[in-house]
Amino acid sequence: MIEIRLHGRGGQGAVTASRIIAAAAFEDGLYSQAIPMYGTERRGAPLTAYVRIDNVRVRERELVHTPDYSICFDEFISMNQTIANSMKPGGIVLANSKFKPEELPLAGDIKIACVDATGIAIKHLGRPITNTAILGAFCKLCPEVSLKGVEKAIYKYFPGRVGDMNVAAARASYEQVTDLITAKNKEPPKQVEEIVSGGYGALKDVSGWRVFEPVIDEEKCIGCKTCWIYCPEAALEWTANNKPAMISRACKGCGVCANECPVKAIEMVRVQVKK
Ligand code: SF4
Ligand code: SF4
Repeated sequence: MIEIRLHGRGGQGAVTASRIIAAAAFEDGLYSQAIPMYGTERRGAPLTAYVRIDNVRVRERELVHTPDYSICFDEFISMNQTIANSMKPGGIVLANSKFKPEELPLAGDIKIACVDATGIAIKHLGRPITNTAILGAFCKLCPEVSLKGVEKAIYKYFPGRVGDMNVAAARASYEQVTDLITAKNKEPPKQVEEIVSGGYGALKDVSGWRVFEPVIDEEKCIGCKTCWIYCPEAALEWTANNKPAMISRACKGCGVCANECPVKAIEMVRVQVKK
């Protein structure tokens, strides 16, 4: 049996990806199951999903605690050592990252491959929904799941033109995924930061959740406070000159403020992740 754990955020399609992997394995003549795991639904919040694949009926029903594969759906999650710590020996981490695998700060008895799934998703889907954009790469690393099976499963979930776009994203990631490398450091660090898993307002640092961030044009802003009222994270503070300012650690990049601003004074721009 192989066990897969998917680490994503609300809105990235990780749960759908788990179903597509399970359906693809089934298309390839194997038994499979997909299990989603998330709390109160919230765009940007970390979530996990699990897949098991076997050539006999899968009877286990618990969550996957020591996976053979971990698929990380965004760049911040991809750098989190807690994911690598719970892998089976020799397990594979597939990271959504523009970095090379040897540049990721992960340690342990693991192998790492990277693909810029966010860039692929923006190019083929026009949005940072990274699920199908990382599944092609996964097929390249996992012999039990074929690209053909994934393509068939994608069309079941997304028929027609949307399916074509998602299949194109999967094919691009199949081509662009890096080779697997073995992590340089075998011993993980003793102190590791946990993935932020919830909470509201400036007390929680959710800045790593952002793919896009709001940039406020003070010239256009009429000070109506609509963005401040609608922000679900209380991530906007009010400045002395009667304009909003982003509290960086509290903003998850959902874009609600930009959507609600009556004079389009807020633009969402892609975050540049630094090493
Ligand atoms: S993108 Fe805008 S609405 Fe969303 S959390 Fe950030 S400041 Fe608030
Ligand atoms: S909604 Fe737009 S115009 Fe109103 S305060 Fe916010 S940025 Fe300014």
